[in-house]
Amino acid sequence: MTGNESVAQRAQKVLTPNYRQSIALVRGEGVRVWDADGKEYLDFLGGVAVNVLGHCHPALVAALEAQARTVWHVSNHYFIPRQVELAEALLAVTPWARRAFFCNSGAEANEAMLKLARKYHSDRGHPERNEIVACHDSFHGRTLFTVTVGGQEKYRHGFEPVVPGVRHVPFGDVAALEAAVGDRTAAFIVEPILGESGVVPAPEGYLKAARELTRKRGALLLLDEVQTGIGRTGKTWAHEWAGVTPDLMSSAKALGGGFPIGALLATEEVGAHLTPGSHGSTFGGNPLACAVALAVLKELREGVLERSREVSARLVAGLEKLRAGGRVDRIRGQGMLLGVVVKGVAAGEVMKAARARGLLVNAIGDDVLRLAPPLTLTAAEADLAVERLGAALAAAPAKA
Ligand SMILES: *Cc1c(COP(=O)(O)O)cnc(C)c1O
Repeated sequence: MTGNESVAQRAQKVLTPNYRQSIALVRGEGVRVWDADGKEYLDFLGGVAVNVLGHCHPALVAALEAQARTVWHVSNHYFIPRQVELAEALLAVTPWARRAFFCNSGAEANEAMLKLARKYHSDRGHPERNEIVACHDSFHGRTLFTVTVGGQEKYRHGFEPVVPGVRHVPFGDVAALEAAVGDRTAAFIVEPILGESGVVPAPEGYLKAARELTRKRGALLLLDEVQTGIGRTGKTWAHEWAGVTPDLMSSAKALGGGFPIGALLATEEVGAHLTPGSHGSTFGGNPLACAVALAVLKELREGVLERSREVSARLVAGLEKLRAGGRVDRIRGQGMLLGVVVKGVAAGEVMKAARARGLLVNAIGDDVLRLAPPLTLTAAEADLAVERLGAALAAAPAKA
């Protein structure tokens, strides 16, 4: 039995069966990972758009080690200097935001964001303004509130009754949004690019229209930048491309470069309503997570974004060339968050063929492959990935 098989067999006996897992990954360095049998891969899933600086980046390892020798956890009953530093660093790159709250994941950041949106209106004497408007096909996490707000029925199935006061509109449809946002709307929540639904960017002008509409009708605009933030699209936040600022924004995934951390950023006006005792987290903003996130932000300041945009352009050009093989319909997304839409072949089959050829990507639905390599990807690594994906596309069995 191989190393991968041995881990799989034990896992299947003791873990809840909620994940579809393939190989066991045991070591990583930069964009490369190795499985339990010693096979090397280019990791273009990156822990699901998390490992924004690759695996075991020396600056992150150093920050984690130094913090681990100092103090790990004290709880939010005490001030945590690293947490204050991280808030300062995040707010410095997010000019509209004045307040930060820390938690441990994207779902928790969204949970805090949605709760705060309701509390803001309730505190101001409008408890009837409690409705959340969200998009079909969106993804906001796996807590009960976030699966309710998320636009994918399958994630709510069996968990009913869900949270009341949530309605959905088609993503990108301004007219539908106009019809849905009214005087009972607490907030509209949206991802700048639908990540889990196949890397679908918001149409030109959509976020701007959403900003104007929510402001006009007295509702809040909530941006879920859990997947798109921290440089993933070539700017610190994806909303910078749209020239729009929200009232609240969630971040997680890439924020800790692989160490679990989530954040909610808020304007002064809204953030002030997360009053003493109203919300909290035991682990949120602990010294270890904050030390690593600080190191991530420090690296992002040092030219990484600029270089990632260049390598992304080269990667996209390479992927575009694969269209000549007849199995790529189009490429979408931005920066280091790309979707390869395939045709005549199942995305899942291409994913398997790519894995066999040393490239990790993930299939979303039947026809999209998601690529989320680190921002530190080199041109040579981008070229090698394109070559492996081209071979995988050619080798995958045709769709029945
Ligand atoms: C991944 C993701 C989440 C959930 O984050 P978790 O850390 O898994 O809880 C929420 N929103 C978006 C847009 C995501 O991509």
